[in-house]
Amino acid sequence: MIKCIYCLKEKEEEVFNQEHVIPKMLGRFDECILEKLVCAKCNNKFSKLETLLQEDSMEGLYSAIYRIVDRSHVRLRLNNLKIKVVGDFLGNVFEKIFPQAILPSGKIQPRSMLLINNKQTGFNIFWLDKLNSINPLSKRGRKIVKFIVGLEKKGLHCIVDQSDFTLEQAYKIISDYGVNFQERKRESFDELYKEDEKPIFQFKITETVPQNSFVPRIIAKTAFNYFSFNAIKSNLAEVLYYNNFDDIRNFILNGEGNEKNNLCFPLKQPILHEERQEGQNYFGHTLTFEANNTHVIAKVSLFGMRAFRINLGQYPFRFLSDKFGGGHFFNPLPGNKYITELSPIKYKLLKSENQYGLYRR
Ligand SMILES: [Zn+2]
Repeated sequence: MIKCIYCLKEKEEEVFNQEHVIPKMLGRFDECILEKLVCAKCNNKFSKLETLLQEDSMEGLYSAIYRIVDRSHVRLRLNNLKIKVVGDFLGNVFEKIFPQAILPSGKIQPRSMLLINNKQTGFNIFWLDKLNSINPLSKRGRKIVKFIVGLEKKGLHCIVDQSDFTLEQAYKIISDYGVNFQERKRESFDELYKEDEKPIFQFKITETVPQNSFVPRIIAKTAFNYFSFNAIKSNLAEVLYYNNFDDIRNFILNGEGNEKNNLCFPLKQPILHEERQEGQNYFGHTLTFEANNTHVIAKVSLFGMRAFRINLGQYPFRFLSDKFGGGHFFNPLPGNKYITELSPIKYKLLKSENQYGLYRR
């Protein structure tokens, strides 16, 4: 029998899965996996939260834009994420709908897509390179055809990056899926990127993050996973079952208690010392934990966007230690992945890599 670190129930070994410390939609970090600690029932709950994060948050949008997950299609639900459309065409679309991130190249890479703006279901984006590789007559293709054709009447936009496709190729891909795309107005990326030109079409994105919504819950789960992973590396797995962490567990599993206990809330400042110094966010995931006087406090930022502070629970050891704490910076870009250790004092990037544990090395 094994005890789940989230629901604390003892279950047969077979019902335990691998749990990625960082959700897979945020990059594949196979070095950081919790083995046989999270039961299938909890894991299933987390999958549902992760689907919401994928489809209805800025973090999800980033994971799609930078091809962290390789899907043929992205859906933006627009419940949490508000995209307000002003004007009548896609001027400055990449700057507005897909906000700037600091990539190593310093540039945003446009990606060819079929974009459907549907008031009922939100935005649906089909990546042309993915569509091109799926036969419309295959089972998966037929499903996509049904979906696109069902929606095609409403605001259809085709965005083509000429380094991927010519316009003719793009039209063929779309028409292979049974969509009759009639071009009404055309703009080139060169025009879109002219800074002195006033955009004729704008997106305004705002995101509301209620305290008990899925975003803080996923953030809190990632923080507790990371803390757990470090505890295991220090051979201190038993602390994970202490009732010190019951509040954060209850919030992660059931969405309860955040308003009352301030378990997870946004920080105004970025986490990394370098980010504050340079006045720009680094494109990556920052995860840290430390002890304040009485509690274990974690900080998490995904894709270098907003940062969160998570109160994991009362410090579980008898003596406070100024050596307790750690942090890592994870670069999620495919083919460019690295993990860097952070100095836990000021969260500076260090050169050493992959050192895990509850105490500073
Ligand atoms: Zn469980």
